[in-house]
Amino acid sequence: MNQQTKITTCGLCSTGCRLTITQTAPQQYKVSGDKNDPVTHGALCKKGLHAIDLMLHPARLTQPLKRIGARGAGQWQPISWQQAITETAEQFNQSQQRYGNNSLFFSYGYSKDFINTQLLRLANHCNSVNIHGPETVCWAPTKFGREYTLGYNPSNDVNQHTECIIFWGVNKHNTRFTDMPAINQAIDAGATTICIDPQRSYHAKQADYWLALTPGSDLALALAMLKIVIDSNQYDHQFVSQYCLGFTELSEHLQAFSLTELANQCGVNLDLIKEITEHYITAKPAIIMSGNALDHNPDSLQVNRVIAMLMAISGNLEMTGGHSRPQGATLINGRWPYDENDVNHCDAKARANSVGTPAIPEYFRATSQGLTQAMLTAKPYPIKAGLIVGSNPLLSWPDSQQVKQAFEQLDFLAVSELFMTPTALMADIVFPAASFMEYQGISQGQDVDSLPRGNDSSWRSKS
Ligand code: SF4
Repeated sequence: MNQQTKITTCGLCSTGCRLTITQTAPQQYKVSGDKNDPVTHGALCKKGLHAIDLMLHPARLTQPLKRIGARGAGQWQPISWQQAITETAEQFNQSQQRYGNNSLFFSYGYSKDFINTQLLRLANHCNSVNIHGPETVCWAPTKFGREYTLGYNPSNDVNQHTECIIFWGVNKHNTRFTDMPAINQAIDAGATTICIDPQRSYHAKQADYWLALTPGSDLALALAMLKIVIDSNQYDHQFVSQYCLGFTELSEHLQAFSLTELANQCGVNLDLIKEITEHYITAKPAIIMSGNALDHNPDSLQVNRVIAMLMAISGNLEMTGGHSRPQGATLINGRWPYDENDVNHCDAKARANSVGTPAIPEYFRATSQGLTQAMLTAKPYPIKAGLIVGSNPLLSWPDSQQVKQAFEQLDFLAVSELFMTPTALMADIVFPAASFMEYQGISQGQDVDSLPRGNDSSWRSKS
């Protein structure tokens, strides 16, 4: 056969690296990066390099299945797509007639292009407000903590001007390799590096300072740093007087905290906290690069608010080599290109009825804990049926045993998946999902931040 080469976008994480896929023989493919990709320059991580193995894996689900044994026992009957869809729709209707519209829930994992949007639309057309995604443990606390504090969610403009980088609960080397050239450029130019992570990560091994704080104590450390900066009068006075509201109240609020107690809470020597804070506040520009670890704690929103305050009072916002303001050049409105009225016709009052919804109006999702409790206790109302797409709550929601018990209480569960996961095993109907190379779509890489620009947006017109 003639070789065929196609260029596509890797769908295995939000970096969105360009892939070149060459079919050399039936069922044989070669995957490589694309040298013309301005972000990756042809590099791929191991996941991308093995994307074909995922697609061709012999354990892939290939046709719809209906449960015929006890829930979770793994006894299935192959059925047609038509039967699977019809029975799912009938079960959803029955649940809603018996227990109300909100007895249905819809949950998605990492998005396949616009799948979040499609699931939102489906939930909307089913008149259920119980839509659930992974955001509470992946970006939402960071996004909202920063936006509520600064008015926007700043990016990291790492380059040769950056004098100090704090890696806080992040491992760019392992999870976002496209940021590494800029990080290495800053390090080669002499930037001080500080890693805050209980694990001895790649950055911990390379950094000038490693603070192995007690897991979950990030708020104590952030407050200690904030207090040190303000009490030592080292904050950026011009920035604070021109742009900050409530600085006097913040200073007074911090007087209630003891640095010794905060250091004890995070299990880090106070002198070390003072030393790294001194590096951070005297370097200009300096960056705090945080990761998903700061979305995983019960106080994550507050942690991110304090870190945002550090970015601001240190005078590192909108500065070349510091934190930049996103320029709003997104091609497709982030990854969720939707008509707001189409996917969100419920008003805020109705949205607040989704189970476990936090008091953040912009974030109208149900939470995993709220769904688990509603399945188990029927409070605030019963959750009796659902559709899960590309997500594995039995492993990823808090308290796996309880989640399993909760799913055992459901009248009906449909799961769309690549493989028979523990969650798919609990389903009544399993839909075989397409991998990212098996459907057409549009996706946008998230790493425009990796392109060189400083705070000069003129590069955008060239791209
Ligand atoms: S970084 Fe993400 S998008 Fe790039 S190759 Fe790896 S998994 Fe794919």
